Amino acid sequence: MTTDVPLYSSPRSYYRDSVAVELAPCFPLNSDTRADVCVIGGGITGCSAALHLAERGHSVVLLEASEIGYGASGRSGGQILPGLGTDIATVEHALGNTAAREIWEMSREAVRLTADLVARHAIPCDLSWGYLHAAVKARHIKELCDFRDRLARDYDYQALSWLEGDALREHVVSNAYPGALYESEAGHLHPLNYTLGLARAAQQAGVRIHEQSAVLDVEEGSPARVRTAHGCVTADFVVVAGNAYLGGLIPWLDGRIMRAANYMVATAPLDEAQVAQVLPQNDALSDANFVLDYYRLSGDRRLIYGGEVSYDGREPRSLQARMDAKIARLFPVLAGVPIDYRWGGDVAITFNRAPDFGRLGTNLYYAQGYSGHGMALAGLAGKLMAEAIDGQSARFDTFAAMPHRRFPGGERLRTPLLVLATAFYKLRDRL
Ligand SMILES: Cc1cc2nc3c(=O)[nH]c(=O)nc-3n(C[C@H](O)[C@H](O)[C@H](O)COP(=O)(O)OP(=O)(O)OC[C@H]3O[C@@H](n4cnc5c(N)ncnc54)[C@H](O)[C@@H]3O)c2cc1C
Repeated sequence: MTTDVPLYSSPRSYYRDSVAVELAPCFPLNSDTRADVCVIGGGITGCSAALHLAERGHSVVLLEASEIGYGASGRSGGQILPGLGTDIATVEHALGNTAAREIWEMSREAVRLTADLVARHAIPCDLSWGYLHAAVKARHIKELCDFRDRLARDYDYQALSWLEGDALREHVVSNAYPGALYESEAGHLHPLNYTLGLARAAQQAGVRIHEQSAVLDVEEGSPARVRTAHGCVTADFVVVAGNAYLGGLIPWLDGRIMRAANYMVATAPLDEAQVAQVLPQNDALSDANFVLDYYRLSGDRRLIYGGEVSYDGREPRSLQARMDAKIARLFPVLAGVPIDYRWGGDVAITFNRAPDFGRLGTNLYYAQGYSGHGMALAGLAGKLMAEAIDGQSARFDTFAAMPHRRFPGGERLRTPLLVLATAFYKLRDRL
């Protein structure tokens, strides 16, 4: 039995211990340099932006404060989903039906783009298809079926089908769910290897990546100056891709997102009989609660399970016991299977849970706030920023038109207000 269980604060995770992609050395920036574009942040958003910009012929420097995939991209549940972190109705209300349709179609494109990047750059990340939106309560059944019908009717989206009883047990062997929507156009992958694969492709396209190179200051202007402790990048354009990890670097962006911690575990590898009693078709699953649980199998057949949330930076009380109890309740057959890894990561959520894309001035672009739904969208965001910097900004602007409210209460009250709101939704999840 493995007993090596690192603390949540540890940078170690199952993903770090199963890296399959090697980068060329990414030495810290230690001199001044010039580039067409400076990208801040080495997650999926930043790596995709850098790759697509380089493919369009731009010289690009990418600065990462820690190491590639250090943020959410290297810690995520790895579920690749169309749609947004909010219901598409939120977009309809804000932007009208035509823009909502364009955004929905782009979210599907984000999923296809992920598959295309994995194939084109031979990224070893165990990409696999099939996804379940599982009802936990009777009211979820109606909500999910309405969701399927609306997408079929208004968006001609036919990839969702309802499963229950034996048909559902062919996909997930648990008594926890009265039914689920099966989605064929969604799937899952090893998020860190995917992110590293994008970084490797970017390097091969000519991007200069510097790790351990935290940006300390951005002097806006044409050109802009992006400073680290030991160097400065002078660039015509800046892409800000720090998401929840950006801190206060660009104060204007700060109040537009809230940082929320999410937690993951990986069990020891399951044997064939256990796999057959858990997720026999290798689908990913998330339940329909507001504070949701989600899981999938890794390439080496561990259960990768995520759930629980913290908005105040403190680890939730009895986190370990709660997560272990949930797994035991879902899959009694896993009793005694050790948990090999535990880790956490930060999600950036916006007030309306739609992603926040935009520009400051004429030459600083940003994409953030995917609200727990960024694995596919972040790749597209990078591509759209590359298009926009190249003068084709229509698709980027469709997303950027989405209005966003700042979190109320300012720096001091923002977190308590959100904790209160989440407590309400948690209570609702129990009803
Ligand atoms: C536990 C967890 C589970 C998740 N599960 C899913 C899921 O199953 N499906 C899904 O769609 N989404 C999921 N998400 C969300 C998804 O992972 C993110 O939306 C996505 O990875 C965001 O990518 P990003 O590149 O924008 O940000 P990040 O991956 O967070 O990258 C930001 C990077 O910027 C760097 N940075 C910050 N500031 C600076 C600076 N000043 N200088 C230089 N570098 C800087 C950071 O070090 C970091 O590496 C999950 C997130 C978490 C935390």
